[in-house]
Amino acid sequence: MHTSHTTVVDGLGQERELPFGSNSVQHGTAVFEGIRMYATPTGPVLFRLDAHLERLLDSAELLGIPHAHDLATLRRHVGDAAGESGLDYGYVRPVLHTREPRLGVNLQDFHFTLGTEIWACPPDETPPRPVGVTVSPWRRPSRLTFPVRAKATGTYVVSALARTRAAADGFDDAIQLDPNSGRVAESTIANVFLVRDGSLVTPWLKDSVLAGITRDSVLTLARDLGIETAEAPVETGELLAADEVFLTGTASGLVSVASLDTHAYAADRPVTDALSRAYREAVLGDGPHRPSWLTPVSCPTSSTSSLRGVS
Ligand code: PMP
Repeated sequence: MHTSHTTVVDGLGQERELPFGSNSVQHGTAVFEGIRMYATPTGPVLFRLDAHLERLLDSAELLGIPHAHDLATLRRHVGDAAGESGLDYGYVRPVLHTREPRLGVNLQDFHFTLGTEIWACPPDETPPRPVGVTVSPWRRPSRLTFPVRAKATGTYVVSALARTRAAADGFDDAIQLDPNSGRVAESTIANVFLVRDGSLVTPWLKDSVLAGITRDSVLTLARDLGIETAEAPVETGELLAADEVFLTGTASGLVSVASLDTHAYAADRPVTDALSRAYREAVLGDGPHRPSWLTPVSCPTSSTSSLRGVS
């Protein structure tokens, strides 16, 4: 991905650079989202914008982050940033963060503001290459330690740890387990699905799993296609015994798993292929009509400026 140099910062009217001493930099105290913008025949659209922004608001609330936004101001802010970018496709990342160069860990003491970075991100012409994964020795954060439904910058240190170790061991990614149950949770930046005898299963949200929006979209599309679905506890052995395994996330969509440690999956993946097609159609607006999934990107609602004061 290439950065488009488009950042919209609200609130105090600051420049795009964050002070090095900012609490969000020093302590990872920020919550964020990743949203894809796709080119369609009628213009660029943001895929499942409201679902992402609702999760952003939930993340802020779970961490006790004070801010001045509601769904409407977030929608306007992110929509304007996307429009100003002039791009047809991109990866859009709104981050609720604090710029204050002060230490301390009581988040109520800080002013939080929203910035949005957009990377140019053309859609893949071909499905992504199937990946080789391992089971990480590093488990997901415990729900007893952290509200695992929150998407916070600080927790990505855990993903980075697991992914870096997996890469050093020659794998593309790692499956992380729930620390308490020992069951399959998700990969470092994606949810995991398995297919067994034509049915689709993904780990339930009682384990340490981010409630992925692609996960939700895939479950919906599977039901449309008449595929049986279940959100259930998943043991590592079940993952090994599966006919197909794939990962889901906003950035990459559906990614097939070619192997888990030394176990190779069959190259024939009928259910993954059908769901990948359905997902691609959905993001490009070619699937069943679901107005809430596609938000058209229009011209900004105010004068073009990279700095905005809405908080
Ligand atoms: N789990 C983690 C840890 C992630 O970082 C992501 C990416 N946001 C996902 C799952 C997938 O979530 P989504 O489909 O909403 O992108």
